[in-house]
Order: sequence, then structure tokens, then C-alpha cells
Amino acid sequence: LSHYHLDDTHDPALQSWVDSANRHPDFPIQNLPFGAFRVEGEQKLGVAIGDAIVDLVATRDAGLLDAVPECHAALDAAVLNELMALPLTARSRLRSALSRMLRTESPEGIEARHDGILVQQADADMVLPARISDYTDFYASIFHATNVGKMLRPDNPLLPNYTWIPIGYHGRASSIVPSGAPVRRPSGQTRDDAAAPPIFGPSRRLDYELEVGLFIGGGNPLGAPFPVAEAGAHLFGVCLLNDWSARDIQTWEYQPLGPFLAKNFATTISPWVVTMEALAPFRTAPLARRPGEPPPLAYLTDADDQEHGALGVSLEVSLSSAAMRSQGVVPQRISQSSLSDLFWTPAQIVTHHASGGCNLQPGDLLGTGTVSGEAKDARGCLLELTWRGTEPITLPSGEVRRFLEDGDEVIMRGWCERDGFRRIGLGECRGVILP
Ligand code: CA
Repeated sequence: LSHYHLDDTHDPALQSWVDSANRHPDFPIQNLPFGAFRVEGEQKLGVAIGDAIVDLVATRDAGLLDAVPECHAALDAAVLNELMALPLTARSRLRSALSRMLRTESPEGIEARHDGILVQQADADMVLPARISDYTDFYASIFHATNVGKMLRPDNPLLPNYTWIPIGYHGRASSIVPSGAPVRRPSGQTRDDAAAPPIFGPSRRLDYELEVGLFIGGGNPLGAPFPVAEAGAHLFGVCLLNDWSARDIQTWEYQPLGPFLAKNFATTISPWVVTMEALAPFRTAPLARRPGEPPPLAYLTDADDQEHGALGVSLEVSLSSAAMRSQGVVPQRISQSSLSDLFWTPAQIVTHHASGGCNLQPGDLLGTGTVSGEAKDARGCLLELTWRGTEPITLPSGEVRRFLEDGDEVIMRGWCERDGFRRIGLGECRGVILP
């Protein structure tokens, strides 16, 4: 049931007959992420390879996926859910077939060049990769939880449940949008002056949250939880996720039931889903528990997961204001962090979600929560970076930011690097704030 074996698809020496893949920072032949794209009014499934997209239906119809008949029907869909629902073995065999077909030395590859199976990414519009029925957001960075806790409770930043249970809430699936979709500043109820009634109007403390999204594959029936050791079979892959957050609305509404309108107006995800198979070389040891932090309870413990259940994904956030773009100034990187700094592993998050019997379904999306590290420049949102606006940041244009202004574009990137392996990336997650 493990996704996590290394095989010939991870060989760093592999090259593709798609030339751009051999220079591409994110999408070499060792990655092969899945997505859905639209070209000439038609929506189709594809795999990113360099600057191009492999059209999966065209590839199948050209006879290049004859080795994986069990995957053929799922490729006709407009979204990845049916592919995500396939057994792990079928998904892995599809990855192997695609890898072989795209290799420089592949005889099928030579044939494929003439069969019109490639679409240039520049000619396609990426859409949401799956029909997302349910979206849940976690809070898995202890550094983020501690920083936010310090602002609210300086003497007691971390609540006592934090080190025992993966904290999360059910989010809103209908407002998830793909990278590039503009995000309108939400209006809501806020109360800055405790002596006056609340007011309703545009948020004045709009923020982003740097997160990674986990797409569910497989899934479990209602009432049938699974152990951590089997969590890999229920994970399809990952994307970048921006959990846009209106801090002033959040502050007033969050007690006692947690986030609501402060976060349900938009969530942006990157369009390419990087599979757990592609991430296998980048598995690493989870964050070590510090003195006073308990070991996880038995239902969240698995020896293999404790050894290398974290994912070594480097993450960064850049910001570009409208003024910077008009001056031709490149976006300014404002933070960088690592997914391996989470307190809980992806397998623990997924296992916990289903532990009470909740049925996870292919295409469900689970956010990790803001990925912050211990360092000041590893804080994954403006609330932390500017310490609630008290330590503003200055952009190359001379503009100052406490929270996001209209016209600001937030750009998230993620990638994996390790000696002995080819670098792969998650691509980009972008969104511009509209008034
Ligand atoms: Ca969040």
C-alpha cells in the first residue's frame, strides 16, 4: 500500500524528447503532475512536461497507453476525480507508462512526436483539477499556531490540545478558484472599537496564508477509518494553496465556532497536482518533538511515518503591488519556509480526519494550515510577518504593507531538491486583489 518506493521514474539521468522538460525547474520527466486544462472550448485531462501538456485522451487514442487499460475510462472525464479513485497500483502503472513514453530513448516517444499529443501550456487555460466536494483546513504548523497564539494570549500561546490533536475546521469548497483568478476584497462585519457597535464594510486587514493542499485519492467508506500505515493509499498528491483570510472579520466572528466568512470568500490553488509517487524521493523525518511535547497517540503513530513521513517541499511567497508592476519591478520575495516543519505529517492529518468514521472521497481537499517555520522570515502570512501590522514591511517601490492592498498580487511557489535526484516543483499559485 505504499506510494513511497523509488523506481526508474525517479532516475535523475532520465531525459525527455520534450526538450523544454530537460531545462524546466518544475516539470521535468521525473515529476509528471496531473491537471485539467481548457483549449478551444474543450476541457481535458493532462500531464505537465516542461512547457507543454500531454493530452491524456489523445495519448490513449494514439495507442501509447495500451499498457494501462484499467486507466482508460477515467481519462475521458473533465476532472481528475475518477483517476484519483483508481487503486494505487493503477495510478503508479499510469505514471510508469507516461514516463516510458516521454523518455528520449523511448520508441513510443519517437512515434508520439507525430501524433499531436502535446498542447503548449501557453495555449491552454488551467482549471480546477478536481470536482472538490469537501474542503478541510488544518493548523499543522506549531510555529504558526504559537505566533498567532502569542498575539492573543502572550502568556499562554499554545492551547493544551495542540500537541495532541491535529486541529482543523471544515472549509468552503464552492469558493476554491484556480491560480490566476482575481480575488475580490470581501466585506464583512468588524468591530475595532469595543465601545461602539460593529460595522459592515470592506475588510481592512486582508491577508494570505501559505499552505499546501492534499488531494484525496482512493477514499474510505462511511464508518470505516484506516490506520496511518494505510494513509498513503488515500493520498493522491499535493498542490499550493492560498487560504485568503480577512483578519478583522475573523477577529470579531471566530468565537466560539471558529473561522467562517473571514475565510470562505476565496481559496486559490495551483493547477498541477504533484503525485505522492513523484514526491517519494523527498520524504524526510518529521519535525522532532521537543521536551514537554508528547508522542502522538497510537492511532496517529506509525514507525515508517515517524521516520520519513514529512515532505521536503521548499515554499516561498512573493508580493507585487500594482505600482511595482507599472514600474517593471520584479515581485519581492517576503518569506520562505519548508513543509517538513509541520508538527503533523500528511498521513497523520488524513488518518485523523477519517478516525471518527468520516468518509473521505477522491477529490476532497485538505489544507495543511499556514506553513510557518521558526525563523522570522519563515512566517507564512502577513499577520505573523508584520506582527498584526505593528512591524510593517517595505516593498522595493517604497510602499509599506501591513496587510494586502487592492492591486497586490500574491505569488506562491514550491519545489523539492535533494542530492542524487532531479529537482521537481509544484508550479505557481497566483492571485490579484480586486477592490
Ligand atoms: Ca488556513
